[in-house]
Amino acid sequence: MPKPRSPLPRRRFLAVSATALLGLGAAAAPAAARARRVPAPEAEVNAGSMVMALTFDDGPSPQYTPQVLDVLRAHSVHATFFVCGDNVGLYPDVVRRIAAEGHSLGNHTWSHAHLSDLSAADVRDQMQRTQDAVTKTGVRAPVLFRAPYGDFADASLAVCADLGLRPISWSVDPTDWANPGTGTIADRVVAGAATGAIVLNHDGTEGGDDDPAPGSGGDRSQTVAALKNYLPRLIDAGYTFTTPDAHPPGRSGVTPQAPAGR
Ligand SMILES: [Zn+2]
Repeated sequence: MPKPRSPLPRRRFLAVSATALLGLGAAAAPAAARARRVPAPEAEVNAGSMVMALTFDDGPSPQYTPQVLDVLRAHSVHATFFVCGDNVGLYPDVVRRIAAEGHSLGNHTWSHAHLSDLSAADVRDQMQRTQDAVTKTGVRAPVLFRAPYGDFADASLAVCADLGLRPISWSVDPTDWANPGTGTIADRVVAGAATGAIVLNHDGTEGGDDDPAPGSGGDRSQTVAALKNYLPRLIDAGYTFTTPDAHPPGRSGVTPQAPAGR
């Protein structure tokens, strides 16, 4: 199919011309081009009026992820599950159910690492191993990525660019992981509801490489109970739900270091 390829050389030519017009030196041009390709974390889903996105992190959990999936199925809602690679390896059936029921999978590193503490090579390893763990279950590789703690180190954004991953943050954080009470979680989500909102929830737990039972520690029953409470309230209010990968990039929210030249 030669026709779709023909615009590419022209864009390249224009980029080179613009660089020349701006008077950038030959050494600066490749660095500027690289910086432009690095994506910024998206804090909103770009899907139109009254459309939101629900996200669930740190799983899959053999106990709580199926409960979350049951609630979502009862309301015909699709969500995004940002999984950790070590949990994926332990609970591949849960990963397959997530995908089979039409939800999106996101990469949440291998062991829930603080990426700023790692070398660029270790960041890449955390992300690539998780991609590989997901595809090993027979599910297609994630196209979304969320850094643990929202710690999008420059290295992770560079790997996102290389692997074709879109970095996704959030706009509503009910801090469900701290178990503040079902009603509190639900009310915080309802209060934060808005067009484009991305809600951060946790269906799993992740203790890192030293965790003797990754994905099965911690109590996420408040998260499940809150979902049962707030989801019908939001639906009654007119909201619908989607996953970020189905839409063009939304407004960026966790701002990394500004790319060169901007
Ligand atoms: Zn997390």
